[in-house]
Amino acid sequence: MAAKIKVKNTVVELDGDEMTRVMWIMVKNKLIFPFLDIPIEYYDLGLEYRDKTDDKVTIDSANAILKHGVGVKCATITANADRVKEYKLKKAWKSPNGTLRGMLDGTVFRAPILVKNIKPAVRNWKKPIHIGRHAYGDVYSNTEMRIPGPGTTELVFTPADGNKPVRHLIHEFKDPGIIQGIHNTDKSILSFAKACFTYGLDQKLPVWFSTKDTISKIYDGRFKEIFETEFKNNWEPKFKVAGIYFMYTLVDDVVARIMKSEGGLLWACKNYDGDVMSDMLASANGSLAMMTSVLVSPQGHYEYEAAHGTVQKHYYKHLAGEKTSTNSMALIFAWTGCLRKRGEMDGTPDVVNFADKLEKASIETIENGIMTGDLLAVAEPSPSNKKVLTEEFIDAIAANLVKKL
Ligand code: NAP
Ligand code: MG
Repeated sequence: MAAKIKVKNTVVELDGDEMTRVMWIMVKNKLIFPFLDIPIEYYDLGLEYRDKTDDKVTIDSANAILKHGVGVKCATITANADRVKEYKLKKAWKSPNGTLRGMLDGTVFRAPILVKNIKPAVRNWKKPIHIGRHAYGDVYSNTEMRIPGPGTTELVFTPADGNKPVRHLIHEFKDPGIIQGIHNTDKSILSFAKACFTYGLDQKLPVWFSTKDTISKIYDGRFKEIFETEFKNNWEPKFKVAGIYFMYTLVDDVVARIMKSEGGLLWACKNYDGDVMSDMLASANGSLAMMTSVLVSPQGHYEYEAAHGTVQKHYYKHLAGEKTSTNSMALIFAWTGCLRKRGEMDGTPDVVNFADKLEKASIETIENGIMTGDLLAVAEPSPSNKKVLTEEFIDAIAANLVKKL
């Protein structure tokens, strides 16, 4: 075999839980480490070790990504009451993804992996539609209240400098009802805007951003203003050179346009829109296992992962000694995304090239009919379609990859 390709700078590796942890080792040992010589900084984000270190390992891993620029993460369990019992945890630790997102001040971008023999639900979608979700504030950190009967409700701002409070009437209730208070900050919206423009430029994708500012003139209006100002001040000429553009429009207009588009764009979404639309997009493309995810900081740090979780049900089958057919595509693409970015940052085209070849080998494997159970259910029927087991799928990709190197 040819000499291994040298990766110049450190890749931060974040290990995880359950079925994805099982597949993670296979992917590394069969598709990555035989071909590349990588300086790895390894962090075990498996739930047991997070518990053992009082979750310090998650914080250390986030700092490592901030230091080295790129990381790749396996799926992890978000602890809840059941998991506290199952793993005998000291407590229900915070979601590692939440911690990473907070420390990187990052935005999550998702994109489907397209293969010819799985048709998207929308016929004219030819290229991936990427979604960026602003994961801060709005209804996700609301304060809400039931109004039991007649009375006045107000929005009140009490300035910290002792100036007179500002009050606005919400509603004069005559009967029972409900109210809700939500917020966002200029700082968080600006970070979101920067991350979206960074990602758009990086991937050479036009950026579409949408809100409902005709109705919400101040709240959504502020999102619009910040995006437009940031674009004018820092991105317009760069976008022109790259042959891409930024478009702001109303959210209902974007929904209509998305259905008619051929894809190949970044849709920047407010928190709720992103929550809803990313699930629609995933299911329109066949399987959650064909969806990649990357966390991008406004300064350009990247953390790649699969969009799906730890595939708990398959893991319990695996533990019981049953055969599984779990799809490793999103995990493989987390590695290729990370390696491509590392190669671009380091100026090492052979690393970028390897990432391209591994993606091609994976896609071709499925297009040749070799696939896991989740895909067989949604693929175009063909006599050459064959359902393979978790490890067989990775072996088939490895065999394909070797032919390309
Ligand atoms: P999940 O792991 O995404 O799996 C849900 C279902 O989707 C699976 O049972 C399976 O359906 C299908 N699926 C997902 N990925 C697949 C793959 N690679 N190959 C084949 N089928 C796949 O969600 P979950 O089971 O609800 O969550 C399990 C754990 O993951 C939870 O503890 C949660 O906290 C965690 N989680 C982590 C992340 C993350 O780290 N980014 C994200 C989400 C959830 P069938 O059973 O029908 O085959
Ligand atoms: Mg959702």
